Amino acid sequence: MITQLSFKAPHVELKNLRNLWFHLTGLSCNLKCKHCYLGCFPNNKTRNFLTMDKIKVALEESKKYKIEEIYLTGGEPLLHPDINNIIRLTLKHTNVTILTNATLINDKKARFLRHIEQDFNNELIFRVSLDHYSEEKCDEIRGKGSFKKILSGIDNLIRYGFNPIISAVNIWEESEDSLKEGFFDLLKKKGFEPDEINLKIILPLKIGEYSKNIQSYEENEYVSDSNIKNPDRLDCANTRVVTDNGIYACPALVNDPRGKVGSSLLNSSEKFFLEPNACYTCQFNKTGLFNNNWSNGE
Ligand code: SF4
Ligand code: SF4
Repeated sequence: MITQLSFKAPHVELKNLRNLWFHLTGLSCNLKCKHCYLGCFPNNKTRNFLTMDKIKVALEESKKYKIEEIYLTGGEPLLHPDINNIIRLTLKHTNVTILTNATLINDKKARFLRHIEQDFNNELIFRVSLDHYSEEKCDEIRGKGSFKKILSGIDNLIRYGFNPIISAVNIWEESEDSLKEGFFDLLKKKGFEPDEINLKIILPLKIGEYSKNIQSYEENEYVSDSNIKNPDRLDCANTRVVTDNGIYACPALVNDPRGKVGSSLLNSSEKFFLEPNACYTCQFNKTGLFNNNWSNGE
């Protein structure tokens, strides 16, 4: 942790708000993963679910910007009781990505989600968290039986014509080539032909459960003027997150008071100081840690 009170971190300016995230279910998730950077678990009531009213206000306010993508996240966003209406509401605006562990996507749910999407011109995208292609490694982190349930969810999405993106936290420091080979083999066995966009490999954020169960940041792991590299490529230069208690700079920081930039989209700071240690990880990830990478090196 940073202890020098005099330390002034470099900052990032919000250049162009293109990516709007909705943090739907607070810290509530049906899984309890050992690496969860928010520390989510079943029935975690420490944060409220985001209400439809707040989502509507944020969508109205976002008209000032040119939002290109909307993301629905949690916890597990499919636990939100209004999820179907939220998907419909957001799909009216632009393409929507749901970040999910996919364990709640059975055949019926996948078919229903496809029906919803068919009413709109925009695309519904699923980004599924699955950190390893081996059952043993996945279950070690996400809990016994999770691998089979996640794969079943992916199967159902594929069956109804979705093009899921696997989001893998590289906990075991495996080479990207090896991870890619393993995941692509897994997807091919399901009759799915994966492309580069179907796999997003990210470095672990050493906060939340990860810092308790695996590893935390070293004292010297923070962003400073001497190590900052091209801050405009960081997600916080084009992203904001709407939560039940205000607007945050990025999804990693919705549980950190330093991540809050304002109470509403129209009343929030465009400047963000990269003080949290999580920002150090972003610096070293090849691409933005959170948003979809539609082209290599975005
Ligand atoms: S990592 Fe994702 S799936 Fe796991 S507990 Fe956290 S929010 Fe839930
Ligand atoms: S964690 Fe990454 S995206 Fe979030 S504020 Fe820090 S640098 Fe920006």
